[in-house]
Amino acid sequence: MALSLTEKSELVSSFWKDRPSACPKHEIPMRTFFVERVYKPQIVMVCPRGEMFRFDQKPKQIEFSRPHLKTMVLDAQEREAPGCPQDFAPLVIYRTPAKFLPVGWDFSFFCPSCLSYGQWIDTGRPEEDVVAAAKPRKEAPAFHDETIPLPKRMEMAKDGNLTLKLYAAMAQTDAVDITAAFIRSGAVIESLRVIQISDIVLIRGKTNDRRKAEHASEIATALGYPRVANLIVVRDDVSDDAAIVYTGQRRLELERELEGCRFHVVSTLGVIRLTGSVHSEPQSDLAVAILTRIDGVKAVHPELNRR
Ligand SMILES: [Zn+2]
Ligand SMILES: [Zn+2]
Repeated sequence: MALSLTEKSELVSSFWKDRPSACPKHEIPMRTFFVERVYKPQIVMVCPRGEMFRFDQKPKQIEFSRPHLKTMVLDAQEREAPGCPQDFAPLVIYRTPAKFLPVGWDFSFFCPSCLSYGQWIDTGRPEEDVVAAAKPRKEAPAFHDETIPLPKRMEMAKDGNLTLKLYAAMAQTDAVDITAAFIRSGAVIESLRVIQISDIVLIRGKTNDRRKAEHASEIATALGYPRVANLIVVRDDVSDDAAIVYTGQRRLELERELEGCRFHVVSTLGVIRLTGSVHSEPQSDLAVAILTRIDGVKAVHPELNRR
């Protein structure tokens, strides 16, 4: 989902201020971490429901200082485009009617590049008294630090409101499903399931291609997870087909409805060719249905005679 500049800036600010970062879509806390790369350091946020957001942080976000804001306001009033003091990117300016004055404007500034931000509220008082907009939000405890046990989190949140307590409890999530992020990054693995527990990522699934299994580990690294347990089972096709034939043949023989029929099962990379004979059409359908349910079977091609 696309985020507005304000949403981006607020998410990044929540990260640097150690506040919970709520997914804009689901309004639940996301896992957040910083990926330290020389050329492209990023904040990564992963929603338990699968969204992933990345924010470039070279340079890191700042809240503009009062002198900076004053210059920006003057620039904006002069119809000059103020730039970010960090990376000189042209700032995005939001102008709202002044809160404390009958005329005039308050200003918010956002850097589209480093997501730095600042707000200038015109109080009309002499310059010394003008306060550049600290957002009146209380510092929240570092709930995203997973090393804090649940009872301690709840203790930290005990004076807070219900939302804060909820954050404290949810931050304890033992396992976060991040499968969707891996699929989006191009992981092609059967029954893929990726979960993050603390700072470890567990990758499960099946494949018959060792390179695809290795690629999943590479994706984890690229997504910024340093500790990866790759538990993907790399199957060997020959023994897999043998198992399919054995299981298939046996299940068909054990099925009462198929008594008196003859079957011969051949599997090639999970694709079954079923030959033999049945008495009726429904028996043929049943045999195909039984074989289709076997693990690893991709398709069943029946070539059965009626007799
Ligand atoms: Zn979400
Ligand atoms: Zn900037």
